[in-house]
Amino acid sequence: MTWQKAIGQEKVKEIFQRAITENRIAHAYCLWGNEGTGKEAISIEFAKTVNCLNPVIIGKSIQYCGNCSSCKSSYHLQHPNISLVFAVPTGKGTDSKSDSSTMKLDDSQIDEISKQIRFKSEDYYHKIAITGGNQIRINSIREIKRNLSMSASVNGRRVIIVCRADEMTSESANAFLKTLEEPQEKITIILTTSRKEMILPTILSRCQLIHCPPLGEADLKNYLMSYKGFAEIDASMSAAFAQGSVTRALSFLDDGTKQLRESAVQILRTSLKRKNYRLELTQGIDELVKTKDKRKIENFLNLIILWLRDVWTIVKTESDGNLINIDQRDILIKFAENFGDKDIPSAIIMIETAIQQLKQNVQPGMLMLNLFNEMRNLFYSE
Ligand SMILES: [Zn+2]
Repeated sequence: MTWQKAIGQEKVKEIFQRAITENRIAHAYCLWGNEGTGKEAISIEFAKTVNCLNPVIIGKSIQYCGNCSSCKSSYHLQHPNISLVFAVPTGKGTDSKSDSSTMKLDDSQIDEISKQIRFKSEDYYHKIAITGGNQIRINSIREIKRNLSMSASVNGRRVIIVCRADEMTSESANAFLKTLEEPQEKITIILTTSRKEMILPTILSRCQLIHCPPLGEADLKNYLMSYKGFAEIDASMSAAFAQGSVTRALSFLDDGTKQLRESAVQILRTSLKRKNYRLELTQGIDELVKTKDKRKIENFLNLIILWLRDVWTIVKTESDGNLINIDQRDILIKFAENFGDKDIPSAIIMIETAIQQLKQNVQPGMLMLNLFNEMRNLFYSE
């Protein structure tokens, strides 16, 4: 396996690696796909490889050595040939043409930027976010141009990675277009985006477009366990519905997975009590929606889906081999005994529909109450 700091995405890796070994690297690429699929991770691995002094070729794949002077400086993303461009705050005063993107920033902002780059070098899936940085500004693009007009300080290929290129202002995008129109030898620009439609078509038409599909569940789980140190149960639960995105998986884990699952299952059980459930159900829902955290509510609903899927697995296969909530095996079996004869697949569809509605700004409290009542009706209809 090559480019280990970028998980999965074997096809995308192959496209890049063949371009390197067959010596037909494009001047510009646009890597697009959902957030958290490793677009920047692959770009960095590519940049390291094309600058390595002793790359190792194995069949069709190519791997940087990790030991040469170039690899050592790219390790902390400090390589003169590798630049990351991202949104930074405006800073004080108006920009003049010769200013660098960071010139107007104060010490704490500069500090934040270097800290963010360090985090990125430690984990290529880290999303660089600088307080107040919402747009890729014209000065960052001018800086690229100045940088490119100077001769390379070392051999190799300059790689400029424009992270979340859709955050370019229209002024930046137009300036950037000019750079793309004048391709130079030994320079490759890689744009990454999860919102390709926000990028000027004239920019896209000058890039080789490469799609990064959602990651496989096993790859994601493996990343969460080996790189982030999560326990297997947490990794399995979040990977199961992260839709192939590291970002989604991590946001889910942020919410305190197990605690959230506990309250999700509690509310589900309350809603299915034979009687005297109303008050407790309303209170439980109120408790959750008062946080006004939509992502948390969505995760909560996803946890109920996972729970019901496990129940269904037990009912259908009469085994616990593929359970996600394996640590709750006994409780799941009991749940399956009580509700295994109900239309669980329809309940799952109801929850999925509710998640869609939540995204369309339906009031969460009402939505949840309706959902649990509907599921109750489904489970108790004769
Ligand atoms: Zn090397």
